[in-house]
Amino acid sequence: MADHFSLRLAHSRMLAPAVRHMAFERADGQPFAFLPGQFVQIHFHYADGKPTKRSYSVATVADGGAVRRIEIAVSYVDGGAATALLSALSEGGTVEASGPYGRFILMDGDANRRYLLIATGTGVTPYRAMLPQLAATIERRGIEVALLYGARSEAELLYGEEFEAFARIQPRFRFVPCLSRGARALPRPQDRLGHVQTVLPELAPDPAGDIAYLCGNPDMVDQTFEALKQAGLPIPHIRREKYVSSR
Ligand SMILES: Cc1cc2nc3c(=O)[nH]c(=O)nc-3n(C[C@H](O)[C@H](O)[C@H](O)COP(=O)(O)OP(=O)(O)OC[C@H]3O[C@@H](n4cnc5c(N)ncnc54)[C@H](O)[C@@H]3O)c2cc1C
Repeated sequence: MADHFSLRLAHSRMLAPAVRHMAFERADGQPFAFLPGQFVQIHFHYADGKPTKRSYSVATVADGGAVRRIEIAVSYVDGGAATALLSALSEGGTVEASGPYGRFILMDGDANRRYLLIATGTGVTPYRAMLPQLAATIERRGIEVALLYGARSEAELLYGEEFEAFARIQPRFRFVPCLSRGARALPRPQDRLGHVQTVLPELAPDPAGDIAYLCGNPDMVDQTFEALKQAGLPIPHIRREKYVSSR
């Protein structure tokens, strides 16, 4: 059930030129219980006093249960209200929040052979949080996991080294960065050029064995949803989280 609390910024770093990783702790010192894939909402007011809120997926890598740190990755949007608030927040500063919310989570009852995890931009953060659960599911059921991740350039590949490291120790996890604005200086074997929609056919989506998760840019989510539907995946096996602005 969703809870309301203040969050204090404990630590932050820039992940990309316009994306800030922010690690918060509850100001009341309480742990935060969530399921990997869920999001929190940040509550604030416009200049005219009208209340508003924005959603951010929890990026914290958790082994289950409750965590001390609520990590999010905030992509700055020109003229954005939450962008103004969160880009100006210093360590020690507080914001109002609530959560957890959402059903974009891995399901215990799934009997698939492979998860296709697809994201653009900060849409990759739920998958970062899911890594321990994915490792446990790979161990338990011998499934494969492919993460197809779209970014414009290497500099915008958020948590790319963490996913690479996970793929190195976990042969059943494949990390496929899709770079839409050209190759990196030192391309890696799994790199692909273009959008995730273009690269998807290479993974040969399988209606009998795949469950897909799509997260991030709404156009990407819609187009990939259509492509997977055309490939024959049942709609309940195409799970979506669209990063739309909630004003
Ligand atoms: C379930 C959910 C989870 C989300 N998780 C994340 C997350 O983990 N990280 C994250 O950064 N965002 C996430 N978002 C989006 C986030 O909630 C905000 O919409 C985003 O940060 C922009 O808010 P803002 O107040 O800065 O901009 P706004 O004041 O809402 O928008 C300012 C202007 O920019 C446009 N705009 C808004 N968003 C974008 C965009 N992405 N690209 C281009 N133009 C845009 C608006 O149409 C408007 O014209 C999520 C959204 C949802 C629904």
